[in-house]
Amino acid sequence: MFGKMMHQSLLISNLIEHAARYHADTTIISREVTGQITTTNWHEVQQNSKRLAHALKTFHLDLGDRLATIAWNNHRHLESWYAISGSGYVCHTINPRLFPEQLIFIINDAQDKVIFFDSTFLPLITAIQDKVPTVEKFICYGSPDEKVLAVLPNVIFYDELILNQSTDFNWPQLSEETPSSLCYTSGTTGNPKGVLYSHRSTLLHSMAIALPDSLNLSANDTVMPVVPMFHVNAWGVPYAAAMVGSSVVLPGPNLDGDSLVSLIDDYKVTVALGVPTIWQGLLATAKKRGTTLASMNRNVVGGAACPPSIIRDFKDNYACDTIHAWGMSETSPLGTVNQPKAKHASLSAEEFEQLRLTQGRPPFGVELRIVDAENNHAPLAHDGRTQGNLQIRGPWIVDHYFNQEKSAVTFDGWFDTGDIATLNADGYMTICDRAKDLIKSGGEWISSVEIENIAVGHPEIRMAAAIAARHPKWDERPILIAVKQENSTLTEEEARAYFENKLARWQIPDAVIFVDALPINGTGKIVKAELRTLFADALLPSEVI
Ligand code: AMP
Repeated sequence: MFGKMMHQSLLISNLIEHAARYHADTTIISREVTGQITTTNWHEVQQNSKRLAHALKTFHLDLGDRLATIAWNNHRHLESWYAISGSGYVCHTINPRLFPEQLIFIINDAQDKVIFFDSTFLPLITAIQDKVPTVEKFICYGSPDEKVLAVLPNVIFYDELILNQSTDFNWPQLSEETPSSLCYTSGTTGNPKGVLYSHRSTLLHSMAIALPDSLNLSANDTVMPVVPMFHVNAWGVPYAAAMVGSSVVLPGPNLDGDSLVSLIDDYKVTVALGVPTIWQGLLATAKKRGTTLASMNRNVVGGAACPPSIIRDFKDNYACDTIHAWGMSETSPLGTVNQPKAKHASLSAEEFEQLRLTQGRPPFGVELRIVDAENNHAPLAHDGRTQGNLQIRGPWIVDHYFNQEKSAVTFDGWFDTGDIATLNADGYMTICDRAKDLIKSGGEWISSVEIENIAVGHPEIRMAAAIAARHPKWDERPILIAVKQENSTLTEEEARAYFENKLARWQIPDAVIFVDALPINGTGKIVKAELRTLFADALLPSEVI
């Protein structure tokens, strides 16, 4: 016997229909690649997504076909998401900062039929167009542009494509298990792997991120996803915003502190989301300009560990609560969010800060465990101290990678994240490191995250990465690769001295190497693999190298 309730599939088209029906005039602000700001709303986004859905019908695509986007966060990109997934195709968001060979691999692996792109990515499109045989159509966002036509004669222009299309479109009633979008992991080991989300996983994830103890999103918010739509679907914000009817600010290509501060102040952003490097740039600008970022009451940091200095600066100087969150492409991405509980009101200021620094606890839907990878994956204690390999399961966690027959999960149904973490009894999780970034000195593990968190707290250090350098006696020793603040005269000795009394002596980096810039990948994360290639031998005597 079944329950006697209506059955309705959880579909992405329901999100845009809901937003258009009940939040029609709620604004969507979008910075275009031209620098111009467009003001639109949920009604218009829905209308354009229906126009595009009509146009896509004429392309004779099959359900489940992959349609790619190479674009910044802007309103046309948002409209395409709803048109593509709503029509039963898969929206494949591509990270434009990947190397051309990786892009070609990804497009061919996904067998994309169409690529939508921002005109800024024209050089990239022309570089790869002959090597992606499945792509039948290139669609450039915007109105006809001679420069684009000159090098891509068969290009279709988005504005022209949708111009005369009807807005009378009935979204197909798909099964909720239908695939809806596809993101490739950064592929630090081997080729990138595709994670294929479904309508169901996306809707459940949207509900989870909007909850009060997650991002607490509502129709009273103006949310700015600085995290790109090509990075794990901008952490699900474009879906959740439609679900709750919040206003959205899409920052386009300008992710520098100046541009973001202007958007926050001009459009009264209440909550913004991004990786730590984004916040460092933004805080520096806010300080220079003397703004209080008055509208912003919270910001969400994820993608990499949030240094304590960011949390403190936002709280003390901008009355803004920093919410630390953890996740990965394989987890849609939300895995944990740091929100305190009622009982934490009695913690001392210091204890409370320690709690806020953890990656947080899972929302309903996600289960976490830590296991001993060297001992048959034996489950370990959730005591807040024991470190183990972090594993996760739930309805928005990957089961199989796209195009791969081999399961992505353990024999007992958990996904191994590759992170090393502790969990306490309430589920608050602390990432100690990526398994591959841990530094093993004389048999003892040293966390690169801990070193980095201290380093970026130094007023003269702008960015820092700790990596393992080979060592003749200890196998590995930590070294710090750092970028100084402008005009800083900080020396290596002074930088090393800063760690004294903050870390055990043997955990202090053996060397601090100053560089002009750190290699950053498409998602704003420091590429440690590149640093290891450059500096792993820095401590070896020259005759050993
Ligand atoms: P990606 O799939 O590219 O989003 O990368 C996911 C990885 O980023 C995770 O497995 C973590 O190692 C790292 N990560 C994400 N969020 C955090 C966080 N809040 N703290 C520490 N590491 C994080």
